[in-house]
Amino acid sequence: MSSRTPIMAGNWKMNLNHLEAIAQVQKLAFALTDKDYEGTDVVVLPPFTDLRSVQTLVDGDKLKITYGSQDISAHDSGARTGEVSGPMLAKLNCTFAVIGHSERRQYHGEDEAVCNAKVKAAHRHGITPILCVGEGLEVRKAGNQVAHTLAQVDGALEGVAAEDAETIVIAYEPVWAIGTGEVATPEDAQEVCGAIRGRLAELYSQELADKVRIQYGGSVKGGNVAAIMAQPDVDGALVGGAALDVDEFVKIVRFRD
Ligand code: PEP
Repeated sequence: MSSRTPIMAGNWKMNLNHLEAIAQVQKLAFALTDKDYEGTDVVVLPPFTDLRSVQTLVDGDKLKITYGSQDISAHDSGARTGEVSGPMLAKLNCTFAVIGHSERRQYHGEDEAVCNAKVKAAHRHGITPILCVGEGLEVRKAGNQVAHTLAQVDGALEGVAAEDAETIVIAYEPVWAIGTGEVATPEDAQEVCGAIRGRLAELYSQELADKVRIQYGGSVKGGNVAAIMAQPDVDGALVGGAALDVDEFVKIVRFRD
């Protein structure tokens, strides 16, 4: 039995303004009981503009929900119009920052070097990266999903010290399963998540690899989460669409029921 605490994270993407964010977190906090947080980390990942509202609510009501950003700049300050830095996110008490989501790789050209710089930026400011990796459909059809995903892991972790690497969360998200309703089978998820853990053991140590939490992401819902979570190397879910539906997200948090 793994000692890793499952982590269920809701990526709201570019949805919900700062007022809607307050309502969403209030609904979620109302629906979740103390038991739900026992042994499971519950995380929301709102747009940047919502983070201050979420922080105020979480601090004011002493909620057990944690939160983070959907991206982070590789740079700490300066002439980087439109970017949000690690120090700014740390000031908002962000626990996590998503790095290398497939939508950022696709629409913003983020490659391994960018992800690597962002992972280091997050660590500089005590923020835990949720590093997203995973293959597109063509790569999957060619059967190269493991090699492709491990190359992304290698690139993003280049030069990252063990003490930082052991805190990271890695989300395996096959791109063909994101927002499509197409879910990887539990065996597909295990194949790549297991390979990621194996690579962490090679890069660092088995002890470190056994500590790192690896999520699956791609059309996770209340109805399919239990089978995915039953896989030995899957420690949580990164949830997009279903995170906007409080009832559905609560079912995901309650994957053991
Ligand atoms: C995501 O955005 O990371 C994601 C997995 O989306 P969805 O759950 O909608 O597939």
